[in-house]
This record gives sequence, structure tokens and C-alpha cells, in this order.
Amino acid sequence: MESVYNIRYFDKERNSEMVIPLEKMVGILLNSEIDLNFHIEALKAQAIVIRTNLLKSPKPIQGEGLVDIWEHEGEDIEKIIEAVEETKDMVITFNGKLIEAKYHLACGGSTENSEDVINNQVIYLRRVLCEYCKDSPYWQNERYFSIEEIEKLLKVKFPMVNVNFESEMTGFIEEVKKDENNRIKSIKIGNKKFSGVELMELLNLNSTRFAIFPTGIKLVSRGKGHGIGLCQYGANKMAEEGHTFEDILKYYYTGIDIKKMTLPCIKKPLYGKIIVIDPGHGGEDKGYRGDLLGLLEKDIALSLSLQLRSKLDSLGATVHLIRNNDTKILATDRLEQANKFKPDFFISIHMDYFPNSSMKGVEMFHFRNDIESQSLGLHILKSLKKRHIFTRGIKEGNFYVFRGISSSSLLIELGFLSNKDEEIKFQDDNYIKKLVDGIAEGILEYFKL
Ligand SMILES: [Zn+2]
Ligand SMILES: [Zn+2]
Repeated sequence: MESVYNIRYFDKERNSEMVIPLEKMVGILLNSEIDLNFHIEALKAQAIVIRTNLLKSPKPIQGEGLVDIWEHEGEDIEKIIEAVEETKDMVITFNGKLIEAKYHLACGGSTENSEDVINNQVIYLRRVLCEYCKDSPYWQNERYFSIEEIEKLLKVKFPMVNVNFESEMTGFIEEVKKDENNRIKSIKIGNKKFSGVELMELLNLNSTRFAIFPTGIKLVSRGKGHGIGLCQYGANKMAEEGHTFEDILKYYYTGIDIKKMTLPCIKKPLYGKIIVIDPGHGGEDKGYRGDLLGLLEKDIALSLSLQLRSKLDSLGATVHLIRNNDTKILATDRLEQANKFKPDFFISIHMDYFPNSSMKGVEMFHFRNDIESQSLGLHILKSLKKRHIFTRGIKEGNFYVFRGISSSSLLIELGFLSNKDEEIKFQDDNYIKKLVDGIAEGILEYFKL
């Protein structure tokens, strides 16, 4: 059975939302985002860019009458179908994560480093030289503005000028020599020298008593668009010169990979991620004991860990448990096991206890300067809050588990066994399930970024 990944599309013209299969949506956007006269390899590159962005940010797409393209027939449609089908499921990744595939019409000589444009350093959005868009109509663009237009658009006022205005435009009009009556005796324009009379005759002026002042400004810009990522005109030229879509994408996005993201992977968003779950304590090391019901930390940690494993499993992750039964495991053995799996994340599960029995809620600890585990913790907190689970936040911790672990690690204290109300909750399967779902959703959100 083939499953289809759908994209939500809101059409402003029809004022309705539609659900459109991913590959069809790539075709629709290809039509609106790039000149279909471009070379097929450039269209393929753009199709992969669009697919990557659609999967990266699953926000609904907005447009006006975009879907109508499928009602037409002809060469354009054939080209779209070819570009989409021949790149089916292909996406651009960096370090295993989907990239934000920025693109623009023409760069005008070189693309830009992301931080110079969007104030955000993105490693794969580096400046690359590009002469490929030289033949594009956007390579160099001249716009002429009269002084009046500049005054109006910029809301500025130029000083009034009169015929006695002393004019010298450095480098172009120079060496203006006048007599005592303000008549031009001689002037150098460009690299030529003229007498006042010569100029009067050549330009049909009424006298040699004239002044020169600028009445307009010409601005010359290069390229079109923000200049980061793929240069479309450049891509077209590269394609014409025999480069493939892969060459093109690897030229404009630094250090990326092109991968086939098969549909099961989309349905299994944690595919390829390795997560080690470490249920605290075990065997004769019971951990804390509940005041009211006598629940044991080691049992709660194990039961939640087992459920979390099957949840993450179903999302495609490879999950290893440090223990899956009630046995005692030495701290050093836990570390050795964890490092052997080379996980993307190490998550340790515990319960807390505090003399003050009103203390409650989920609390997390990350190792000093471990920004990744802090970020994961924050995502988990957010999704737990969404489920109305009381949370205490994330702090820096210095537990044994963090020392000697070669991956990012997070310690989760699920709740307080010193709190009677909370202990009761841990007897409730629904509460455990909410915790499991919340933690899993946080992990999913973390890896999405
Ligand atoms: Zn370019
Ligand atoms: Zn513990």
C-alpha cells in the first residue's frame, strides 16, 4: 500500500483550503516559482528545492489560482511532470536534517552569506561566485530617477540651484574656469577640454553664462532577489553547460547531500535517529519510594521507558534501553553501553523526592553548555504543558550520567514521590501515557528544526 503525504493549500481566489498530494504540490509551485523555459536540469533542481521547503515547514501554502495549471495541457505541463517525477522524493539535507532551501532569480555575480542578509548564520548558505547569471536580464539593471522623483520617494529636499551655482562633478566635469561675469571660459568634460564658446555651439546653449547641476541620479543594481542560496538564472546556465541538478544544488548550497526521502520515512520522522533511554536504578537499587503507596522509582522509570521506547520505535527511531527488566546496572556500565550505540541522544529517566511534600512536577537537567539538550528539554516542556502536565523547567545539572557520555544527554525527573497527589497519578496509565506522548512529541519537534 502506498501512502501519500499531503500538503494543505489555501487558494485565495476560491477562498478554500485544499489537500494536495506532495508531488502534485511540487509541480504546482514549480510552475509559479521558476521560468518553465529554463533547462530541465534547472527545473529539477528547483523541484527538489520546493519539495525540501514543503517538508521542512509544514505550514499551509497560500496562493491564487495556482492549481489551475493542471487544467492546461501542453509542453509546460510535460516539463513540470518530467522535473517532478525524475526527482521524486528527493530532498536536500545537511547533517541529516532538511535544509531551508533559499533561492532567488539572479545573484548578479555572487550569492550572499546568509548572515549578511537575514541576520542568521546558516552553514550551508555561503557566498559562492556566480558568473552563470551574466546573460540574464537581471545581471545589471539601471534605473534613472529625476531629482523630483528622488525628492518625492525619499522625502528629502535638494538645495535650490541658480545659474550661479558652482558646479564641479568630480571625475566627470572638472576644471571649470569662469570669467568675472560667471561666463564659462573653459571646462573639462570626461577626458576632453572645451572652451565655453565651443560648448555653447555644440550643445546649442544661449550663452556661455551657464551652470551645470545634476537633475537626476542613475542607480545601477546587480542581480534580483535576496541573493542567498540557489541563483535560478545561474542554475539554468549551468544546466545548459551540461551540469546536472545535483551539480547545481551542490554548487549553491555548501556541504549538502541530496537524499531520497521515501514515504515511510516521512511517516517515520525519526528514521535514522538513535536514542538511548536509561531507566534509573534497578534491582536492589530501588531509588526513591513513595510515601503514600510505596511506589518505587525504579519501577516507574522502567515502565515509562518501555512505553517511550515503543512510541519512539513507531516514529522510526532506533531505541536502545540500558535495562529492560529489574536489574541493577553500575553507572560505569550504563555509560559504556550508551557510548557503544553512538546515540543522537541519551535520555535518563528518574523520579524525585523532596522533604517538602508540596513539591511537584516534571523537571529536567542538562549538562553545562549542552545547548542541544537544553533545546530538547525546552521542546519536551512545551509539549508536556500542552497536555496540562505540571512542569518545573530545565536546569543545569552535574549528574554522573552526564560525565563520560559522548552524546547530548538529558535527565528527566518525572515527578515527586514525596508528593501524595503525584504518587497517585503514577498509578494512572493515562497519566503515564500523557508523559510518554509529551516526551515523544518534544523529541519529534527537536529533530524537526
Ligand atoms: Zn548568479
Ligand atoms: Zn533517581
